[in-house]
Amino acid sequence: MRLRRTYWCGDISLKNVGTNVVLAGWVQGRRDHGGLLFIDLRDRTGLIQLVFNYEHQEDLFRAAEKLRAEYVLAVSGAVIGRSPETINLKLATGEIEIRVDEIEVLNMAQVPPFYIEDAIDTDENLRLRYRYLDLRRPEMQEMLRLRHRLLMAARKCLDERGFWEIETPMLTRSTPEGARDYLVPSRISPGCFYALPQSPQLFKQLLMVAGAERYFQIARCFRDEDLRADRQPEFTQIDMELSFCVREDLIAEVEALLARIYREVLGRELHTPLPVISYAEAMERFGSDKPDTRFGMELQDISGIARECAFKVFNQAVSAGGAVKGINVKGCGYFSRKELDDLTALVQSWGTGGLAWMIVTEEGFKTPIAKFFTNAQLNSLRRYMAGEDGDLLLFIADAPDAAQKILGQLRLHLARKLDLIAEGEDHFLWVLDFPLFAFSPEENRYTSNHHPFTAPRDEDIPLLRTEPQKVRSLAYDLVCNGVEIAGGSIRIHGRDLQETIFRLLGLTQEELEEKFGFLLEAFKYGAPPHGGIAFGLDRLLMLMSKRKSIRDVIPFPKTAAGTCLLTGAPAPVSPHQLQELHIKNFGTQ
Ligand code: ASP
Repeated sequence: MRLRRTYWCGDISLKNVGTNVVLAGWVQGRRDHGGLLFIDLRDRTGLIQLVFNYEHQEDLFRAAEKLRAEYVLAVSGAVIGRSPETINLKLATGEIEIRVDEIEVLNMAQVPPFYIEDAIDTDENLRLRYRYLDLRRPEMQEMLRLRHRLLMAARKCLDERGFWEIETPMLTRSTPEGARDYLVPSRISPGCFYALPQSPQLFKQLLMVAGAERYFQIARCFRDEDLRADRQPEFTQIDMELSFCVREDLIAEVEALLARIYREVLGRELHTPLPVISYAEAMERFGSDKPDTRFGMELQDISGIARECAFKVFNQAVSAGGAVKGINVKGCGYFSRKELDDLTALVQSWGTGGLAWMIVTEEGFKTPIAKFFTNAQLNSLRRYMAGEDGDLLLFIADAPDAAQKILGQLRLHLARKLDLIAEGEDHFLWVLDFPLFAFSPEENRYTSNHHPFTAPRDEDIPLLRTEPQKVRSLAYDLVCNGVEIAGGSIRIHGRDLQETIFRLLGLTQEELEEKFGFLLEAFKYGAPPHGGIAFGLDRLLMLMSKRKSIRDVIPFPKTAAGTCLLTGAPAPVSPHQLQELHIKNFGTQ
């Protein structure tokens, strides 16, 4: 490389007119206007126009004619102001151009399989196959820049607040976060495996026992789950842990971090403290533990009226210990029978018996179930549901949890369908007091809602012996626009309580020693009270950049089938490698 870059393309403006610069980058495109030839040169900061004039520089003009899209160049030339009629306001550098006096072709390029520009309509698999070309596109470069800015803002903020960045092992033992492990066979210990970490959970707790006090890590986590559109087998967390803290300290730290990220990365102020809601209230009002609070349509409990009415589906559900819950779909009384039937089929596909509907009109209620209600009952229903003319009221009768959850899903479905969600504002909130356990009917045992290291609320500890399902935890989730952005908890730091929880989760003494003996042992040596949290960095970035797919915020993501189209991973390995790892070749061919 003879010519050495003196400027980035995007940094040149009118103030540089009259100076000589050396630029380097890729050919975006070429336009031939008879004796004038224009080339747009692109680097990661933007585009700039190079101009070649046949009359004044015949040789250079001929050389420029040979340049193709994506050729790699260094050019030197003079910055000149454009005449008013050629100013291009769509381009950041549109007031100037470069009159080139030397071109150095650094590399040629084949015709790329898609245009290197924004908003291309290209199959995503092709983009992933040629990810290095996809990443050249300005919107993807912006993603890389934003990701970097976010990481830097987080690192700076956490450093200033006294957190140490500490790495924890990738080759480790299984850490339970509720997913399957990725296993790595050991060559040296036949038949033994490392697990890739589902999170640094155990190590960060051990770091608290080790006296690190404040830890963070930009941690890669691996979870072998059935993939959904918004999941990746490996993803990044901003992982934190603090000693000598209570839940409110943790929440304050996280809010400070988030506010800093918003300010530095987006230039926006985040108003803290963020709202807080209990799990129970979130389920009651929104039918979700990650409520989208950008719109209303909150759930109402009409079990009282339902118990009294003559509609069997309602009153029997309530007498059987269930509930009847409803939502008011404002102004949607115009829904056709077909639309209502489709909604019924939808909730049935989610596992409930059916959907009752009532349309509020001037004359009263339009509904097939009117005859089962007295006028007084209908009037209280209207009041309860804040029903006005033209509103559509929808009801589900089921076990309380199921009624809430399904109505919560319906609420979201309708908000999307009716376009009720105001994009733009981010609605953050903390969800607290999750139940410590969930009961798994398939396994006939309790499972942890968060993970087994989460502490119960002090006042609920006695319930561990009597009614474990009622125990509330000291876990907290940070939710934004209906998406969980971060989750964590105050931890158990006493050996006895930790053992009790493991037992309740169905671990035998042997399993407990085998899997977590080292943690229980560490707790014998003065473990401080501690707690922590982890942010899903990719999800946070999705939110901040308003991207719809998690794959668009990860430089080299996997497909929904867990494959890397660029490298072809996962791929078969040689029989020799398998043999070294003491693995029999079951073969797929
Ligand atoms: N390890 C947890 C997770 O990955 C986060 C935490 O509890 O700090 O979800």
